[in-house]
Amino acid sequence: MRSTMQNVPLLTSRLIEYAGTVYPGSEVVTWGAGGPRRSSFADVARDCRRLANALRSLGVDGDQRVGSFMWNNEEHLELYLGVPAAGAVLHTINIRLFPQQMVYVVNHAEDRVVFVDNSLAQPFSALLEHTPLVEHVVVNGPVPDEVRQALGGDGRRQVHDYRALLDAQPDTFDWPVLDENDGALMCYTSGTTGNPKGVVYSHRSNLLHATFCAGSNSLGLSQASRALAVVPLFHANAWGLAYASMISGASVIMPDRFLQPEPLVAMIASERVTCGGAVPTLMTGVLDHLDAHPEIDVSSLNNVIIGGSACPPALMHAFHDRHGITILHGWGMTETSPLGTVAIPPIGAEGEEYWEYRHSQGRLALHVEARLIGADGTRQPWDGESVGEVEVRGPWITGSYFREDDPATQEKFDDGWLRTGDIGSLTPDGYLTISDRAKDVIKSGGEWISSIDLENTLMGHPGVQEASVVGVPDDKWGERPLAVVVPAEGQQPDVTELRDYLETRVAHWQVPERWAFVTEVPKTSVGKFDKKVLRARYAEGALTV
Ligand code: ADP
Repeated sequence: MRSTMQNVPLLTSRLIEYAGTVYPGSEVVTWGAGGPRRSSFADVARDCRRLANALRSLGVDGDQRVGSFMWNNEEHLELYLGVPAAGAVLHTINIRLFPQQMVYVVNHAEDRVVFVDNSLAQPFSALLEHTPLVEHVVVNGPVPDEVRQALGGDGRRQVHDYRALLDAQPDTFDWPVLDENDGALMCYTSGTTGNPKGVVYSHRSNLLHATFCAGSNSLGLSQASRALAVVPLFHANAWGLAYASMISGASVIMPDRFLQPEPLVAMIASERVTCGGAVPTLMTGVLDHLDAHPEIDVSSLNNVIIGGSACPPALMHAFHDRHGITILHGWGMTETSPLGTVAIPPIGAEGEEYWEYRHSQGRLALHVEARLIGADGTRQPWDGESVGEVEVRGPWITGSYFREDDPATQEKFDDGWLRTGDIGSLTPDGYLTISDRAKDVIKSGGEWISSIDLENTLMGHPGVQEASVVGVPDDKWGERPLAVVVPAEGQQPDVTELRDYLETRVAHWQVPERWAFVTEVPKTSVGKFDKKVLRARYAEGALTV
């Protein structure tokens, strides 16, 4: 029999009206050179309605992609909510992709209207010659004449001022009743191989995901929370933080383009930030700044969810021991909205056991099912030891890519499950440990070496700031690890010392023979170690001690 429940769709428009009504005073704070700009949820809800009217005036009447080329700020949040609520799909363009990839995604998504921060107008204008479909560019912030000229180009496009456009619109809008499975937001993966691939989130997937993100098995948000949204809205759905904040009435602090440790710490202190979401490399910088400035009061900060790449345990312990801040390790990907796991230990875990849970990638999220597929194609047990490729499925896991008929992408799916490309193990109580990306695992003489394990262990050495480990060809073993190390400031650890340190912590045969010291590990557009570049540099003979 059917239930007696009402079949009301989960829609972004309801979130806007809910948040604007029941949490009218919660804040959206945008950092700026001239000080923070403040707005309330009630203001944001009103601006979303004006935005929806403005979109109609630009010919966006639903089922179209609208691009954004912006930092995290109030206006981007308004687009994040208002564009889907109006029936279109917001395509948050990753401003850190290579120019040819940005051109590809704008054309592939068929963005006709693109919203651009004035601080990014120059780089965006460079794409326009190759993106003939773009008809309207809406600029957030004042636009000097020469920039307007560059954006307007040969007259094929109209250039608008975001605030002026919204101010000319009525405060009311009759939100369309959409199908909750319609597209709401879209992100392209950063595409380390081949072209970026588009993942389209639905109203339903986003609201379900945000409900989990806000809950106590994740960030535990409430109206008393003040969340610092460091992860860009253009990367992997900003880890759900934007919607999760609206759901719970948590104020949001938007750093705009001020993503350096000093301003981030200033935001935490002056805005009394309680939680946030960030990537490990960025938090390493924040830690260094905090260590150098013990006078700055960051006692308001309780927890920061960290993911995107493995969080070194040393970083978690440093935040815990020296600043009383909990780093919540999370795992996920663009394809998984992104949260798949969050490392909150079970009740009763203490001491070493407690920390093992904290170091793991975390407990499977509600609604996310997982299985491990071993190298021989069989399902592996959840015994905390057996490893396999992690496959997931659930209401916020993608089942395909946008307009992607390349047969190679079919390999990303296995009978309704998403193949994550990550190798890991699961404990009987559903905690995931990722040992590597399948393409990064080091295959040495028939045994696998986890590059993440070696990196995390090395980053626990006081003389090491960053360490990245890649597999390189070896005549005898097929592949052996190469450790690429950035020494900590003022330190000069030598190879013997680092090898000795590893000898006591990992299996003897895993200790690398090849080492290189560098001032910086190359990073991808989203701040991860770029192992492809490291392998290429090694092949050119550029990485030796
Ligand atoms: P992109 O694919 O665009 O680089 P994603 O954020 O989608 O960006 O990358 C997802 C991948 O990042 C995961 O498949 C995994 O390999 C890695 N990753 C994310 N979080 C973690 C984590 N906590 N530990 C280890 N790896 C992680």
